[in-house]
Amino acid sequence: MSQDHIRLHIPGPVEVSPATYAAMSAPMIGHRSKDFQALYEEMHPRLQALFQTSRPVFLSTSSAWGVMEGALRNLAAKKVLCLCKGAFSDKWVDVARRCGKQAEALQYEWGQPIDPADVEDRLATGEFDLVTFIHNETSTGVMSSLAGVAAAVKKHPGVLLVVDTVSSFTVVPTPMDELGIDVLLTGSQKALALPPGLALFAVSEAALERAKSMPDRGYYLDFLEFQKNQESFMTPSTPCIATIYGLRHQLGVIFDEGIEQRHARHARLNAMAHDWVRRHGFDFFAPEGYRSVSLTCVANNLGIDVARFQKLLRENHRLALDGGYGKIKGTTFRISNMGDETDETIGNLLAAMDDSLAKL
Ligand SMILES: *Cc1c(COP(=O)(O)O)cnc(C)c1O
Repeated sequence: MSQDHIRLHIPGPVEVSPATYAAMSAPMIGHRSKDFQALYEEMHPRLQALFQTSRPVFLSTSSAWGVMEGALRNLAAKKVLCLCKGAFSDKWVDVARRCGKQAEALQYEWGQPIDPADVEDRLATGEFDLVTFIHNETSTGVMSSLAGVAAAVKKHPGVLLVVDTVSSFTVVPTPMDELGIDVLLTGSQKALALPPGLALFAVSEAALERAKSMPDRGYYLDFLEFQKNQESFMTPSTPCIATIYGLRHQLGVIFDEGIEQRHARHARLNAMAHDWVRRHGFDFFAPEGYRSVSLTCVANNLGIDVARFQKLLRENHRLALDGGYGKIKGTTFRISNMGDETDETIGNLLAAMDDSLAKL
């Protein structure tokens, strides 16, 4: 790691470990070779275990947005209901419209969670056949109820549910089959602490059936192409093999730690950040009960100069802290505890934040 590297504590991309980079430098293999099939096949049971699904898990060489757009192109036949509560979820309705889909936003104020009762009310109109839902809205630090939203959608047969778990995957359980989720997707550069460029997703049988009837699926993100290729542990086009080597390494790290221990570690590190917030008299942007376990979005009720705070952290401690996303830049800032963070790295960050706050 270069001397002048600024350690990432932003909520994505997150810091990538030297061991992961080392694993990624394994010699290149052909993507139609037995070696690649063996690599994918070896990882597959572990991927299914993390998705908590018996469905195949697909590897898309795109960032998460590739699959988020792909889900619309493969599944939105009638009208999409987009559950909106922050930058990423708000954008999904815009993307749906750009794909030529009929889409409606169920809009909440930034900082608020999705209310499953509202979802039920909208779906009762019978207008919709697809729901997009971001479990953990990274821009606002709000984690809505996955079980609550899934249960609301399941009351309406024929409506499919797409869930983005980009910043909650392996942080908290996201049981795909148990909750009846139709597409569960995540990306590489946040909760999994890999470089960007890889998205992972699984698709229910009902969703694959829907896809078969969709005329404009395109090619690159056609779910049926992923399905056909996965049957022989391949991908439709040349995948980012180096990142997939990194994924194999991170799966080793996750299963060596143990998934329950991983969840407990994230809860513990998140609580350390919460203590810091309370100790300094800051507020939380998200209401109690809906605060993300992956990151903490701090409300800047004390009116500190966030840009200067970031500069002190960067220059004195070589740490990158996020200064708030989009329209809440400066009125919030975010502390990520995703990926490989430890008691020590979060302890160091919070101590550096103490020091920087004192110098403001
Ligand atoms: C970062 C993020 C995305 C976008 O991911 P890309 O990798 O930029 O495509 C989508 N959803 C959530 C919740 C995110 O945090």
